[in-house]
Amino acid sequence: MSANKPKLLIIPGDGIGHEVIPQATRVVNWFADNRKIAFDISEGELGVGSYNKHGKTMLPDATLEKSFKSDAILFGAIGGDGYEDIPIDVRRETGLLALRRKLGLFANLRPVVAYDELLDASTLKPEVIKGVDMIIVRELSSGIYFGEPRGIEDLGNGVRRGYNTMSYTTPEIHRVLRISFELARARRNRLCSIEKSNVLETSKLWREEARKIAREEYPDVEFKELIVDAGSMELIRNPKQFDIIVTGNMFGDILSDAAAMLTGSLGMLPSASLSEPDKNGRRNAFYEPVHGAAPDIAGRNIANPLAAILSFAMALRHTFETPDEADLLERAVRDTVARGVRTADIKGTATRAVSTRQMGDAVIESLDRLNA
Ligand code: NAD
Repeated sequence: MSANKPKLLIIPGDGIGHEVIPQATRVVNWFADNRKIAFDISEGELGVGSYNKHGKTMLPDATLEKSFKSDAILFGAIGGDGYEDIPIDVRRETGLLALRRKLGLFANLRPVVAYDELLDASTLKPEVIKGVDMIIVRELSSGIYFGEPRGIEDLGNGVRRGYNTMSYTTPEIHRVLRISFELARARRNRLCSIEKSNVLETSKLWREEARKIAREEYPDVEFKELIVDAGSMELIRNPKQFDIIVTGNMFGDILSDAAAMLTGSLGMLPSASLSEPDKNGRRNAFYEPVHGAAPDIAGRNIANPLAAILSFAMALRHTFETPDEADLLERAVRDTVARGVRTADIKGTATRAVSTRQMGDAVIESLDRLNA
């Protein structure tokens, strides 16, 4: 973190990013006004809107430059209307994945916490999800989403072939395993590694290296392994068995959306993406809700802003190193839902749903109450 005011870059992105990020920004400003945690805030562009404005790129140079200079980035979402029309190489080279890769964001921490007050918002049985509190660590800058060669080729006679490459090197496996073991040590000391080592060479290597690190460096941590098909079943059957899950890029993408239903909605899942530390211990850090641009509800002021707001809480914890402030914000979110305030996605059996803006109002009210 820089010596002066910490630099926070805010990028709403596309779709509901323009609705949830303004609510998270109100919370950022509340901390500046009430808790003397002021940020040097700037704004950036990324996504379909940016492509439509500038052409050729979804990620303007100005945003990229600011990204490298910021202590933390708070991002909304990318995608939705017009995304599919952008050439696939432009998406790959200038989209969210490109920014993640450029910033070296290899560890994506996705906490999954089931609030007692929201048990009725899930489609799963209350006794299965009550008390769920885990973090899924998704490897974010390698694996099949980045592997080369990739493409779609014409084989002639009307036949086409699509192909991707899944690969992991040992350093890529080691670093995401180590950060996950460290997280486990700071929590309930349990780590489960999920892969597909019965079929994929990449996963076989992942398993061998994970076992080695578990044995040699973290013998005190309870270590378990699951194949991704069984792992996805266990996630729904008995989610409380998990403390930290570590997994590759694609499996983490899929498992964490499934895990959203343990909390009631994708609108409840924040995330933090971190790079390796530089020589001063500083990590690039990117905070964003797990959800996407949600074109089916965008522009209607009904999206749930809590994932975006909780992503800022993760920034307070992991980048700004103010755990008390992170706790305060997480307590305010819990207080808000405990008071029965619900957006449509977490309405459950409640009688009415509030708007995105009203949910923002309610979190600010809870912050005021808890800070009084
Ligand atoms: P999505 O996450 O945007 O939406 C999935 C479902 O969850 C939708 O029904 C949506 O309405 C609902 N939902 C999501 N966030 C919500 C919130 N905060 N409040 C209430 N409901 C919410 O996934 P999708 O529909 O598969 O993808 C839409 C676009 O977003 C695609 O272009 C996709 O590529 C992109 N996407 C981007 C990201 C990202 O920016 N990190 C992640 C996933 C998808």
